[in-house]
Formats: sequence, structure tokens, C-alpha cells
Amino acid sequence: MTVSASSELRFDTGRVCLNLLATVTGRLPDEPVDRLDSPARLTEWLYGSGLVPSGTPVPADAAWLGRFLALRDVLRRVVTAQLGATRDGAAPADISRLNAAALAAPPAPSARPAPDGSLVRTLAAEPDCAALLAAVARDAVDLLTDPAARSQLRQCEGESCSLIYLDASRGRRRRWCSSEICGNRERVARHRRRAVATQP
Ligand SMILES: [Zn+2]
Repeated sequence: MTVSASSELRFDTGRVCLNLLATVTGRLPDEPVDRLDSPARLTEWLYGSGLVPSGTPVPADAAWLGRFLALRDVLRRVVTAQLGATRDGAAPADISRLNAAALAAPPAPSARPAPDGSLVRTLAAEPDCAALLAAVARDAVDLLTDPAARSQLRQCEGESCSLIYLDASRGRRRRWCSSEICGNRERVARHRRRAVATQP
């Protein structure tokens, strides 16, 4: 499996707010790789995250992108503060920003009949930036105020990865964001080290 392309968006963290954080990869803070680098990519992310049904026209522009990147920065700081045993507590200004983003009503879903009689999920109104930001911010508020979910927050141990995900595995001993990506990379590296060590 090759998911090494830096253009790949990830939607496997377990939460929509963490999927937004996952649009920055690489070892942080020194070598970030930002995959959310244009309004078109933001639209792609909105489809992939399920916030906007695929194919729905999204009037995303540079202002939309700027607002999503600003929320992502706030989320990174607030979520990182909740990682690990010592919770430093997030800055009050960041918590206020997160709460302000959560105030707007999230997009209302709407069921429309398809020609074959089945129902298709659409949005009741044209996608709206504040409403979509609110959906992400509300997910973060729900996650961070839920002790059970919060205790599952992990940061990938992969060498060139900083992805934050929810560890819902039974033993809670998951070390990587994905066993196919970072887990596999680690196994290959371990094998290579062993091969070097056993050389005469
Ligand atoms: Zn990883």
C-alpha cells in the first residue's frame, strides 16, 4: 500500500475535527507538510469528511480557506494541550475562539428522493462557511469534554508523522495512525536495522 503521496488527504483519525488537523502532516513543528493549500483542496476535504455531500457546489474561496486554517491552528493548540498525562490546559483565548466557532448552527441535512425512489443526503441550503466551521468546532467541543473519548487521544509515534487520532483498539496500545502507513514504515526500518546489525 502506498499512501506516501504528500497530496493525500486523510479521513481515518476517528473524528472530523482530528481529520482537519490531519491536513498538516510531517514532523511538527519543524517540517510541516500542508495539504490544505487551496480552496479546491478545502472543497475536496469537505467532501471527504462528509460535511458536504460529494458533488454539491461549494463557494469556497481564499477567505474560506483562511477561516478553516485559523480554526485548524486553534484546534491544534487546544487538542495538543489535552494529549498525554499532563494536561497543561489550553489558553483561554483559544477556548473562546473554539466556542465562538461552535456558536453558529451546523449545516442542516436534507433528504431528497432520487429517480429510483431511494433517498439521497443533501444540504438544505448552499454550503456556508460559518456553518461548516461550526460543525468542526462542535465536534471538537464534544470530543474534548467527553472524558472517555478524550482519553483515547493519541499522537502517532511514526518518525515523520504527527497525526493525532483516537485509539479505540481493545487494549488501547495502538502506536501508529495507521498500521499500513506508519506501522509498516516502522517494521521496514526495524528489518533494515536488523539486517545491518547481522552483517559480518
Ligand atoms: Zn503516523
